[in-house]
Amino acid sequence: NNIRLAAITAVEAYIPPPVSFDITEAPGDIFGENVFNKSVMMKRLPKNVFKSVITTIEKGSKLDPAVADAVASAMKDWALEKGATHYAHVFYPLTGLTAEKHDSFLEPASDGSTMAEFQGKTLIQGEPDASSFPNGGLRNTFEARGYTGWDVTSPAYILENPNGNTLCIPTVFVSMTGEALDHKTPMLRSQQAMGKHAERVLKLFGHANPGHIVAFCGPEQEYFLVDRHFFLARPDLLNAGRTLFGTKPPKGQEFDDHYFGAVPERVLGFMMDTERELFKLGIPAKTRHNEVAPGQFEIAPMFERGNIAADHQQLLMTTFKTVAKKHGMECLFHEKPFEGVNGSGKHVNFSFGNDKFGSLLVPGDTPHENAQFLVFCAAVIRAVHLHAGLLRVSVASATNDHRLGANEAPPAIVSIFLGEQLADVFDQIAKGAATSSKGKGTMIIGVDTLPVLPTDPGDRNRTSSFAFTGNRFEFRAPGSMQTVSEPMVVLNTIMADSLDYCATVLEEAVKEGVEFDTAVQHLLTDIITEHGAVVFNGDGYSDTWPIEAESRGLPNLKTTVDALPELITEKSIELFSKYGVFNDREMHSRYEIGLEQYILTIAVEAKLTLEIGSTLVMPAAVRYQTEIATNVTALKGAGLEPDTTLLSMVSEPMSALTTALAALKSALGEHIEGAPEEALFARDTLLPAMAAVRTAADELEAIVADDLWPLPTYQEMLYIL
Ligand code: ADP
Ligand code: MG
Repeated sequence: NNIRLAAITAVEAYIPPPVSFDITEAPGDIFGENVFNKSVMMKRLPKNVFKSVITTIEKGSKLDPAVADAVASAMKDWALEKGATHYAHVFYPLTGLTAEKHDSFLEPASDGSTMAEFQGKTLIQGEPDASSFPNGGLRNTFEARGYTGWDVTSPAYILENPNGNTLCIPTVFVSMTGEALDHKTPMLRSQQAMGKHAERVLKLFGHANPGHIVAFCGPEQEYFLVDRHFFLARPDLLNAGRTLFGTKPPKGQEFDDHYFGAVPERVLGFMMDTERELFKLGIPAKTRHNEVAPGQFEIAPMFERGNIAADHQQLLMTTFKTVAKKHGMECLFHEKPFEGVNGSGKHVNFSFGNDKFGSLLVPGDTPHENAQFLVFCAAVIRAVHLHAGLLRVSVASATNDHRLGANEAPPAIVSIFLGEQLADVFDQIAKGAATSSKGKGTMIIGVDTLPVLPTDPGDRNRTSSFAFTGNRFEFRAPGSMQTVSEPMVVLNTIMADSLDYCATVLEEAVKEGVEFDTAVQHLLTDIITEHGAVVFNGDGYSDTWPIEAESRGLPNLKTTVDALPELITEKSIELFSKYGVFNDREMHSRYEIGLEQYILTIAVEAKLTLEIGSTLVMPAAVRYQTEIATNVTALKGAGLEPDTTLLSMVSEPMSALTTALAALKSALGEHIEGAPEEALFARDTLLPAMAAVRTAADELEAIVADDLWPLPTYQEMLYIL
């Protein structure tokens, strides 16, 4: 009756299902099959309606409400043909999860029968009774409703389910007063602001009609797979998403034998099934491979427009969870499911541009384009330097705290890695300012003399939190569990600010009669002189970096509790309201929700630690102790002198465990007034109290007889797939 041993037997007997498709089926056959995409719209919408919708999607122009009825009707017919019985406004509340409220297409007709109905107004707006979502004080209880609104730029899709399909419509989620209660609203607002100022810069470079500029996001998702028999035997994994107990396996990741190794057969079956589901949903899954830790893997879809990438990313996580279950596994998105083993991140590859330009962060090979690139690149440097704290808070969570700053993930300090070539160019620019009076020298970044940059700076620095990788910046601090919206909102907003700054400086200089090339030269030199401190090409894991970073004036916000106040500084509030992304109240609400989520997460973990420590670990230890004690008595009875070393070996950690459990219990019983104080208490009292329980329990794991130990071990969970 040992659940762990039963799980091992069950895992051994388990036969994974075959992949759910015919191997001859080409990805192209099914790509976008369940998406109400451009080609479906072209076929099904009246020409003028189609044109109007496409203009909104591609040019960012205002949605004409008159088209809604026609779109709704076409969407309904398409969905019914695809077997949908219901439709759902899908939204992204501040829990970080995906929410959906389903409604049937059927409505009663006057003669008592029913008919399928779906009108424009139902497409455009919904009213979920969503009063239980965190709102950080944004909604009064008398108006607890939130409203959902159709995001026409993110395509509707069919979510298949053996029990009936659903038409899903991506929406924003706002309060009655229009304040954002979700992650999508600020994403769209910030994207719009960034695009506007990027277009100003492009116009200065002579592109009269640059077109609508959008942000691109390519998220790389890391995750763990664990056999579900083990998962279900670990209450900590089940409830907290991470193990709160467990000693490191004798063989860890030190051999680097898993990274990019052959994908295990069972996992490959899972990957193929997930990719097929993703393809149907129009999600461009591309790269898949083993990650550093045993049991850890990665998927990277092709980059897409920010808000679509964010929606797809959420859908990807849901799909992974569902498909993993079908394959008898649990997919773990937690940033640190296993202590002492590599954690999981979600690198956010960020750039901006459009169909015409591609990424505006491509160095290019003509001097004129390089100058333009350098302005965009300098704008990033300025943005990251001025707002490193905001980038830090955009990835802050109780779960990601276990990863950031640990020796495998980027440090909590946000710095930019430019690569040797680009760093050198900016060094020259910095010096160029001092010698610009010399006129046209080789070092001056005039349009004529600019060095041609390679499109792919060969070297990579994995220890940097924000690295230039050839045609984009890669933000490596985001956690595997979080939505990409949070970092994307900050990136878009701080870029809007920086591009606004660049455009304004250049516009004014030109107005004053300064030659454009010279104005660009000055702008670049000024930016790199003032903000070059954020550029760091060294080893971000080294012990000296935090010291050097401090002398450079870069913030090192180690934990979520340190980072959260960044949301409500005067500077941050001013920035976000200037670009119409958040108002004061929205910022405060996000701060409060951040605190609340942090406190709740740690409270759940602390309670689980107490429960598992008391009801699983301690009883196993007691049984083992009793066995030894019985043996000691038996030996005495047989007239032998018993060796009691073993008895004290198990008894010592047992009394440490008793003490630690009592301390944790009393800490959990304390009442703390005020959310910030409660968060500090969680960090400084609960987490250490949990750690003390774990230390004693892990010591017992190494002593207690294997057949008595109740929790699947790291070795079993990580190596048996
Ligand atoms: P690596 O592991 O070397 O960082 P991956 O191939 O795993 O590279 O992931 C790179 C990610 O960056 C992919 O999602 C890719 O689509 C994305 N990406 C490539 N170019 C851009 C770009 N210009 N803007 C945003 N994302 C990009
Ligand atoms: Mg990467």
